[in-house]
Amino acid sequence: AGNDETKDWVTKDRDYLWHAMSPYNEQVPPMVVTGGQGSWITDSTGKRYLDGMSGLWCVNVGYGREELAAAAYEQLKALAYYPLTQSHRPAIQLAEKLNEWLEGEYVIFFSNSGSDANETAFKIARQYHQQNGEPSRYKFISRYRAYHGSSMGALAATGQAQRKYMYEPLGGGFLHVRPPDSYRRPEGMSAEAFSLFCAREIEEKIVWEGKETIAGVIVEPAITGGGILVPHPSYLPEVQRICVKHNVLLIIDEVICGFGRSGEKFGHMNFGIKPDIVTMAKGLTSGYLPLSATAVRKDIYEQFKGAGAYDHFRHINTFGGNPAACALALKNLEIMEREGLVERSRALGQRLEEQTAELLQHPFTGDLRSFGFMLGIELVADKQTKEPLPLAAVGKIIAGCKAKGLLIGKNGDTVAGFNNVLTIAPPLSSTDDDVDFLLAALKQTMEEVKPL
Ligand code: PMP
Repeated sequence: AGNDETKDWVTKDRDYLWHAMSPYNEQVPPMVVTGGQGSWITDSTGKRYLDGMSGLWCVNVGYGREELAAAAYEQLKALAYYPLTQSHRPAIQLAEKLNEWLEGEYVIFFSNSGSDANETAFKIARQYHQQNGEPSRYKFISRYRAYHGSSMGALAATGQAQRKYMYEPLGGGFLHVRPPDSYRRPEGMSAEAFSLFCAREIEEKIVWEGKETIAGVIVEPAITGGGILVPHPSYLPEVQRICVKHNVLLIIDEVICGFGRSGEKFGHMNFGIKPDIVTMAKGLTSGYLPLSATAVRKDIYEQFKGAGAYDHFRHINTFGGNPAACALALKNLEIMEREGLVERSRALGQRLEEQTAELLQHPFTGDLRSFGFMLGIELVADKQTKEPLPLAAVGKIIAGCKAKGLLIGKNGDTVAGFNNVLTIAPPLSSTDDDVDFLLAALKQTMEEVKPL
């Protein structure tokens, strides 16, 4: 069956592969991707597309970087595998480099995916409070609409009901609060007042649940998967103040926002906060190999150094910190530094923001939100009521862009079935021509769908 040449790749994919599917994918069969160079990918029919979503928010340095392949190859030859129950040089070097990027003192626990990194953070936070003489602190607070992963704990932290209810019971002890969705804030309330109102919902939750039961708060710098909700500058500092006040650990999920996407090294740096724990994945290797990391403030780690049998972190990850993945990640960060891709992200983001501003005149554009080189376009059927544009119409825009060779995404408030936010996050290494192409394809498509 592996060599049946009478069937094309798309047919074989349908026959043998089980992957994330949505009704939208049923209308449009998955494309079989065969290669990539820079910001462009090629499918099995030879058609080229500008990858306006960097795969799934991963490929920050673009496709086809031979240096990355070489770094992995050299490491595979020298030492292909050894578990981090002992140690190896690529993991040590990468952890040292991540400390530089984080601008703080952190110790790093390596795993393989964003979900993994968040699960690791939850276990560390719970055990930390136990070590600290507060064993009743086991609950976590996150926001509705945020996505934190697919495993039982990370999915429990996720605030999107439609991804969850068929898999209950999930990990226990996860609570949710209102996301800072400024576009849909109550009329007459300022953006700042609303952001503080949302932050204070976290404090209310802590107090009402009993602060001695709360282990941590987990937030992304901007909610990405739930509609690109960029908070007012006052929000995260207030969340941090509340966490410190109640001895609750602040976990920042940088799986998407990290590694330059936000225009800073990490998304939280836009808001001047210092997280207790930082989780990262995707952009760490630009998606070339699986690797994730949970960075923990050094003084929290110090709590785990007692002599007792249960003082150690009893958590093993067979593949976490794979030497080739670590060597590749180091090279990836070297490329980002050499080519100034954090600064480039900020510059390209500004350009995208300026040049898409005119889309606000379009009858369906309710709101434009950007965070570094990431743009969300919230589509509405009615600008007064903010009623979301129906999914079929959103799908037409995405299909229209694809027909012109531009891949973009969509997400949003899946609970209400909205999915009405177009998402754009091309590689940070995109050229000026790439961005011109993107803008032209997007604007032309939006013009075409006007009379829908
Ligand atoms: N956190 C965030 C913010 C994410 O966007 C994702 C994945 N989209 C995850 C965690 C989970 O990462 P993974 O799919 O690698 O498990």
